[in-house]
Amino acid sequence: MMTTSELRQKFLEYFQQHGHQIVRSSSLVPHDDPTLLFTNAGMNQFKDVFLGFDKRPYSRATTAQKCVRAGGKHNDLENVGYTARHHTFFEMMGNFSFGDYFKRDAIHFAWGFLTGKEWLNLPKEKLLATVYAEDDEAYNIWLNEIGMPADRIVRIGDNKGAKYASDNFWQMGDTGPCGPCSEIFYDHGEEIWGGIPGSPEEDGDRWIEIWNCVFMQYNRDEQGNMNPLPKPSVDTGMGLERMAAVMQGVHSNYEIDLFQGLLKAVARETGTEFSMDVPSLKVIADHIRSCSFLIADGVMPSNEGRGYVLRRIIRRAVRHGYKLGQKNAFFYKLVPDLVKEMGDAYPELKEKQTQIMETLRGEETRFGQTLETGLELFGKVLDGMKFLKLESLLPAEGSAEPLRLQTADGLKFTAASRNSGGVKHVVIAPQAEGRLNETVVFDLQDVVADAKPEMDAEALAVKAALEAYLQANIANSKLIIPGEHVFKLYDTYGFPYDLTADMARELGIDLDEEGFEREMEAQRARARAAQSFKADTQLAYEGQDTEFKGYTERQTEAKIIALYQGS
Ligand code: ATP
Ligand code: MG
Ligand code: MG
Ligand code: MG
Repeated sequence: MMTTSELRQKFLEYFQQHGHQIVRSSSLVPHDDPTLLFTNAGMNQFKDVFLGFDKRPYSRATTAQKCVRAGGKHNDLENVGYTARHHTFFEMMGNFSFGDYFKRDAIHFAWGFLTGKEWLNLPKEKLLATVYAEDDEAYNIWLNEIGMPADRIVRIGDNKGAKYASDNFWQMGDTGPCGPCSEIFYDHGEEIWGGIPGSPEEDGDRWIEIWNCVFMQYNRDEQGNMNPLPKPSVDTGMGLERMAAVMQGVHSNYEIDLFQGLLKAVARETGTEFSMDVPSLKVIADHIRSCSFLIADGVMPSNEGRGYVLRRIIRRAVRHGYKLGQKNAFFYKLVPDLVKEMGDAYPELKEKQTQIMETLRGEETRFGQTLETGLELFGKVLDGMKFLKLESLLPAEGSAEPLRLQTADGLKFTAASRNSGGVKHVVIAPQAEGRLNETVVFDLQDVVADAKPEMDAEALAVKAALEAYLQANIANSKLIIPGEHVFKLYDTYGFPYDLTADMARELGIDLDEEGFEREMEAQRARARAAQSFKADTQLAYEGQDTEFKGYTERQTEAKIIALYQGS
């Protein structure tokens, strides 16, 4: 079996043998490039070479580049844990030509590495290529020179802004070098859901994109004009983890050697049984890489810019740890395991190990202080929303059309709402043909809240049936958490927007993003008014020292309910 480290080495060796200079990975913090949040591709460090502003003593280079895609143009944060192939941090293997070779050699080099006997020796019939819709030159190279069957060459246009969908026009950002590309996909087998690129099922994980060969031809300027580069060049990117999965005969990136080690460490530190079916384990294993590498490259958690992205990733990891039952700082304890897996290839991890651990520990300890109360508020908001949803679904008592339901074991009943003394109840009555023989009255709140000890088996069964009915209706018309609450979680408990979105997504509900933005804007306006004498205002979340004193819990609940009744 080829390990991830061996694969990294083999790639560099292959291109070195073909006249490429091995160049070290650049920092994750782009040097001198305000258009870029983090290094997101191997070509970033060569941007000025492509543009003709910078000259190197070589015209061919090869790299293993650290990349982070957790913000900006390429953002995969939301995909992590949900697809088999996306990470926030990953290594992109690349070969580059600066005005030297172009399409023909780029395609032949990639093919030679993938299928060459002494290289990866992959079966040709498992591979597929895409080309830019109008790129006949690349199409013909695949067809006539490589011998790819025509039904394995797919022409794909320019899917601007597509999140998953193939897009064969690559660009590093809104401005900068760009050009048509040709991508190589690997078939992981028909037992996995998914279709070839361009098909309706392309979002699946069957056909996985492993390598992108970009034919750098233009520089997009701020007005959107495409200016030709001084010389046509080549930039390629092969995902190391994805290719390692192929070479190790596994489907998901998380099954490769490197991730197996990390996943075991996460299981150990969270006190969870090791399993490939627990998304939180994968999310944490992913996040320890991006967080550690970012800190090693000098990023510190903060309230804005790069530091805020780092903070968001750390908090997300901590929340997933909490979900697994780990209430103490644990994330930082994974650093030595990461150093063991990757410290040889990236010595900066070893050198900065202590600093990385201290930074992570400080950050997770601080967040731990507000996480629990924030989660409680989140739970209350949810219960409040469910309460109102259920109420809206129930016909009033005495209605000619009562709601007819049945429990899991077939007990039939009707449900209706009753309002007595300002308290909402649900009236459960037996249906004529049913076995239930008594009318029961629940406090509506008890249906959405946790079960109470005094509830008997029948009451629990009825409660479960009502919950299932509610759940089915939530799935049909999504619940949306109002921006006001998302903002409260952010402002008072330090829950970044995407963290709340991550929790909501697990429950199949949405957030009111616009409402949240309105609250943010209002807060900025308040801060501007209060600090107009200061040149630079610091507006975002200020850490654990802001304690929420606005409402008592009951008032919060009442507010939530009032809010829903109003809408
Ligand atoms: P996808 O369509 O799967 O999101 P992409 O088209 O966005 O990938 P490129 O920008 O073409 O990716 O990057 C080149 C290569 O880097 C990809 O072919 C893939 O092998 C790898 N890669 C891209 N994004 C990720 C990621 N988030 N995690 C791991 N590998 C990645
Ligand atoms: Mg992508
Ligand atoms: Mg793609
Ligand atoms: Mg791509």
